[in-house]
Amino acid sequence: MRVCLDPGHGGSDRANRGPTGYVEADGVLDIALRTRTLLLAAGFEVVMTRDKDVYLSLPARMAIAANQKADLFVSIHTDAFSSPQPHGCTVFCSAYDARSRSLAEAIEQALRQAGRPSRGVKTRLLANGRDYYHVIREAKVPSLLVECAFHTNPAEEALLKTPEFRQLLATAIAKGIQAFAGPQVVADAMIPILLDEKPLPVNGRLFNDVTYAPVRALAEALGLTVVWDAKLRLVRLIRPE
Ligand SMILES: [Zn+2]
Repeated sequence: MRVCLDPGHGGSDRANRGPTGYVEADGVLDIALRTRTLLLAAGFEVVMTRDKDVYLSLPARMAIAANQKADLFVSIHTDAFSSPQPHGCTVFCSAYDARSRSLAEAIEQALRQAGRPSRGVKTRLLANGRDYYHVIREAKVPSLLVECAFHTNPAEEALLKTPEFRQLLATAIAKGIQAFAGPQVVADAMIPILLDEKPLPVNGRLFNDVTYAPVRALAEALGLTVVWDAKLRLVRLIRPE
């Protein structure tokens, strides 16, 4: 499954900020990049609308998702209000797409399980009844917008400035996507590894253009002794005497 992650704002659009300097465009880019790493490790394919600080119109974001044939669209933002009190996450879904709602519910549940106060899964409509958010309204696939926390709330702004909190948010978003999509089995990820033109007894795996090999099979084939240290949780490779 291919997920499009859409960090909001960026480039010339970087006016949304907290009272002590948090910039939404930068914070949500970092959260999205962390989410990408987690999803790739879980076997998802990931498309980013932006992976650096550039301006993109909303139609340009939708075009990237459509051209790259994404199966899901997840827009990542932090929230703002005119007074400092409001706090917590909100996940906005389509009023007209049950899969958008179930994806939103999975992400909202993961955020709550990570200890975040939640304002719930919500829909927001235009006067004509259509979905309010462009990225939800115009998507051809299940799409949602997650407001991770309020950068106008001083306590949440302080949290958003820490990498640990942005990692917690990314972990929850990735978990929600995994809960919605189920385990990913990438059919072409099994990579035979040949030594002297003979395959090792176990295949390697391809993740994100890097081949990972089962260390025991590979090292023993090369004449090394492999010792698993369960206490330190590490592998020792020992050369022959
Ligand atoms: Zn935003």
